Amino acid sequence: MAGNKKNIILTGDRPTGPLHIGHYVGSLKRRVALQNSGKFDDIYILIADAQALTDNADDPKKIRDNIINVTLDYLSCGIDPEKTTICIQSELPALYELTAYYMNLVTTARLERNPTVKSEIKMRGFNEGGVGLPVGFYTYPISQAADITAFKANCVPVGEDQMPMLEQCKEIVHKFNSTYGEVLVDPQILLNENTACRRLPGTDGKAKMSKSLGNCIYLHATEKEVHEKVFSMFTDPDHINVADPGKVEGNCVFTYLDAFSNDEHFREYLPEYACLDEMKEHYMRGGLGDVKCKKFLEKVLNEELAPIRERRAKWDADIPAVYEILKKGTEKARETTGRTLSEVKDAMMINYFADSALISEWEANIR
Ligand code: ATP
Ligand code: MG
Repeated sequence: MAGNKKNIILTGDRPTGPLHIGHYVGSLKRRVALQNSGKFDDIYILIADAQALTDNADDPKKIRDNIINVTLDYLSCGIDPEKTTICIQSELPALYELTAYYMNLVTTARLERNPTVKSEIKMRGFNEGGVGLPVGFYTYPISQAADITAFKANCVPVGEDQMPMLEQCKEIVHKFNSTYGEVLVDPQILLNENTACRRLPGTDGKAKMSKSLGNCIYLHATEKEVHEKVFSMFTDPDHINVADPGKVEGNCVFTYLDAFSNDEHFREYLPEYACLDEMKEHYMRGGLGDVKCKKFLEKVLNEELAPIRERRAKWDADIPAVYEILKKGTEKARETTGRTLSEVKDAMMINYFADSALISEWEANIR
């Protein structure tokens, strides 16, 4: 069954908080564009609640509440449930069976080498001060491989932090296919060509923007909230007077402009510069103040967020319809993932009751 020739996308998000502009440029905006390209046979978005529980086991209410937040964010950004299937991970039992079988194909040493998991363990304070590392969290790259392969996805549009997950998934696919036969599809990661979008930093400039760190501009942010976030944003601490030369590397305002602005924005809001490079040159030379840069960024962000806010107001008023979208999407995903599990079990010869030829095989082997 290998080499399924279909074009299938799988991506997902952990429902640990509402989505932010980092998710948007890292993955969500691309998903909408790919969805509307008409080039894909199937597109699935998985709300990874079970994965979110691996480091939030004591707070199931948070995960439950954020399922609706995340879904509203998808719909507000233009995910169309007629073209994209949105589904909930914990409702897809095939994923856990696949995870269990894939666990036999991965060593603990390999898990320990995963740089994203390493930094996430550190960030969460696991293995420090008596806080243990949950086994579920440690092994989540394996369950993520189950997610991707269960949908036979060949295309996975994600942020840079997911690269090690995709590498690990590919290894599992190769190991599985070479051991049991060609069943699984080798997935390709799709990263944004714009490097600023691959790992958008938080407004504090310290780490990647992340729901778990509270350094975010959320997609549902009002104009007032965007203003507050932009004006408290980390810039260049040595750029004290307007006349001082400033640094653009590590300066959040410029990183966000790298991710969001285009020449059209300059024509519209800041015509004294033709493009971002000209603006950066002025900042580095000295003579361009942070306030002016921030005002421009605020306008750029609000332009991007305005249609998202508009669509959101419509969906906010129809939660029963959103509930139905999730229910229907999850039912479809249950069928898809169930089919892959059957193929996997056939290949692994653990399909006893789907294979009546086994009776004669056992008869012939009786000793
Ligand atoms: P958590 O802190 O719970 O892990 P998160 O903010 O890291 O949340 P995820 O749900 O883990 O978000 O990631 C969802 C998707 O968004 C992934 O494809 C990931 O690569 C992408 N992504 C997350 N944060 C960023 C970011 N700051 N810049 C670009 N892409 C991002
Ligand atoms: Mg994450």
